Amino acid sequence: MHLKKENINDQQFTIKILRYNQRQNNEFYFSDYSILATPGMTILDALLHIQELQDPTLAFRYSCRGAVCGSCGILINGQANLACRVQLANLPSTNILLEPLPNLPIIKDLIVDMEPFWDAYRKIEPWLHTCVDSQNRENLISKKELEQFSLYTNCILCACCYAACPVIARDDQYLGPAALVKLYRFFRDPREQRDQQQSLLQLNNSQGLWGCDTVFRCRDSCPKEIRPTDVITALRRQFVSSGLIKFFQRIRGINKK
Ligand code: SF4
Repeated sequence: MHLKKENINDQQFTIKILRYNQRQNNEFYFSDYSILATPGMTILDALLHIQELQDPTLAFRYSCRGAVCGSCGILINGQANLACRVQLANLPSTNILLEPLPNLPIIKDLIVDMEPFWDAYRKIEPWLHTCVDSQNRENLISKKELEQFSLYTNCILCACCYAACPVIARDDQYLGPAALVKLYRFFRDPREQRDQQQSLLQLNNSQGLWGCDTVFRCRDSCPKEIRPTDVITALRRQFVSSGLIKFFQRIRGINKK
């Protein structure tokens, strides 16, 4: 149930924020802030308001304010989301709990160290592997070809899926949903020339293709509705079916001899 939007001007919200400072005493504690909502006020607006008028020590990360840069991912009432994308009026209660994204080390308050996320991302070599000399000519594709993977280019690398993933919570070496989404984006691109079966073979383990518990937390957390679980399933299917094709080709070859 959402709050009545016509009354939003009168609504007083209590925002509870988990506080922490890596450089100081290493202690966690909560701070409560009271804020009068204005129409359309987002969680990020509320944080900026608190920082400016109530507590300049409060730390959080943001940049574009328009769900494009992926910087302001946090836990809002236990659900990973972008602070700039959630309006106070759309939350079920006037009591709001904000925490930093899980599965990443906390630096200060709502700011996490994204390095483990980038480490996993770099492992899939997130660029187009092609022999075409793009210095000399454009390497264009058709609109129809683009449609094959345009959904996956919407990923803004916000790490909400990474934070929501229960597999990463127990094994920080698991690649995670965003890296696999990016790999799939390149696999669907007709310009990509890497040996896909070879790449999948390297991920044929519990920290790659087979780690996912398929509990859809990444799908529920993705602000761009990319459905990473479906992507992981598609990569698994591709690996198994191309392996089977090679197996039967080999059998046929043996029978012919
Ligand atoms: Fe964020 Fe979705 Fe990309 Fe994960 S897949 S990093 S949740 S945009």
